[in-house]
Amino acid sequence: MSKPHVLVLGGNFAGLGAAQKIRQYAQDAVDITVIDRKPYLLFVPNLPEEVFENHDPTLSLHMPLAPALVEDNITFIQAEVKSLDVETQTVEYVPTERPGAAPERIHYDYVVVAVGARLAYDKIEGFAEYGHAVSDTYYANRLRRYLWNEYKGGPVAIGSARFHQGTMTKDLVPMAEAACEGPPVELTLSMGTWLKQHGMGGPDKVTVFTPAEVIAEDAGPRVVSELLNAAAAMGYHYLNKTHDIKRITADGIEFESGASVEAELKIVLPDWVPHDFLKGLPISDDVGFVLTDLYMRNPKYPNVFAVGDAAAVTVPKLGMIAHLGDEVVGRQLAKDVGRMSAEQANLPLKPVINCIGSMGDNQAFYINSDAWFGGSKQVLKMGHIPFLLKMQYKELFFRTKGKTPEWGWQVSEFLAEKLFG
Ligand SMILES: Cc1cc2nc3c(=O)[nH]c(=O)nc-3n(C[C@H](O)[C@H](O)[C@H](O)COP(=O)(O)OP(=O)(O)OC[C@H]3O[C@@H](n4cnc5c(N)ncnc54)[C@H](O)[C@@H]3O)c2cc1C
Repeated sequence: MSKPHVLVLGGNFAGLGAAQKIRQYAQDAVDITVIDRKPYLLFVPNLPEEVFENHDPTLSLHMPLAPALVEDNITFIQAEVKSLDVETQTVEYVPTERPGAAPERIHYDYVVVAVGARLAYDKIEGFAEYGHAVSDTYYANRLRRYLWNEYKGGPVAIGSARFHQGTMTKDLVPMAEAACEGPPVELTLSMGTWLKQHGMGGPDKVTVFTPAEVIAEDAGPRVVSELLNAAAAMGYHYLNKTHDIKRITADGIEFESGASVEAELKIVLPDWVPHDFLKGLPISDDVGFVLTDLYMRNPKYPNVFAVGDAAAVTVPKLGMIAHLGDEVVGRQLAKDVGRMSAEQANLPLKPVINCIGSMGDNQAFYINSDAWFGGSKQVLKMGHIPFLLKMQYKELFFRTKGKTPEWGWQVSEFLAEKLFG
């Protein structure tokens, strides 16, 4: 008899991790296929660091997927997913290696949606002409070249457009106005240091803005207040409640709130929207993110899972929450195929905000907080140890091909909070 076929859509943090966890827990009881349009994992969190160090992330942050997957006997298809039919349990895809490939269909018994979000720069008027970003290799290299070759030392504005979260998971996660504000905080602190190092001024040239009441509100009020006090003491400017970006011009950014900021360099995080092929499906919420319970399982279609940024319950959109969701999916699938007891498997997602962001000069900030999810933990640390941990994590991730040991974060927690905290 053939084994149940698990199809994982997406092969970055959420997809690769889910496939590996399913293999770890369900062992040889399933066949697994991963589909991604590109043949490598992009280590997104370290893009800002590479920009400010003038390193090309193509060389340092791409990890080939095939060698990681072959270790676990997982099939890889390099293709763009075009549609998902949850009734017939099929996915339509088009191979992406050469243009002109014909669409094909593949059947699944279980599907794990891990395609992340679409970062909608195309919704921001003036972005292509005057905006910069750091969320992928292309934009990181474009910003890197601009910074090192063209930037004249004028004012800098950094922040997010408004996030439009679906409303159907209100009872599971709070509503956020920005999708992920670790990166703007990281970029702001790094930019100030870079300006100083290059004799072009310092933090007082940089304005950080947020559509929300406060920046990085998911880190908890104590962390945010410490962060804002530290940034103000360094000289950074802060603009909140911008509501959304109206347009970017040669001279700055205009906001929906009516406020504006003058800037030569404009670095933005756009709205994080669901992929078009997910919109209107019976598994999706009112905007198109995939609905799940805290076992990452769709309530109507129990053979459909979602993890990472594509899941409606992943708010904020954080790689760490993708990682925690992968563990949940691995256990649930193992239970379904009889390789794990319900008692061992039924551990719901317990999201936390774990974020380490560079500040330049070999320093970083470290946030460990569950306040956004109703907990009491709120830790902020800044210094050389968090930076070392951030760099070491990437090395460990690449060396283990994504299978970082479970003690990795516990060691980081101990070093950052206890030993050197
Ligand atoms: C600058 C920056 C810094 C960040 N720093 C941190 C940090 O310090 N800590 C943290 O926890 N998080 C951080 N994040 C957030 C983190 O990067 C995301 O939460 C994480 O990448 C989500 O993983 P994912 O696999 O769900 O989605 P993604 O990483 O977006 O991966 C989605 C994958 O699906 C593939 N895909 C998409 N559509 C299709 C399709 N139709 N067909 C085939 N393949 C498809 C893509 O090619 C991609 O490989 C940062 C984000 C940014 C932008």
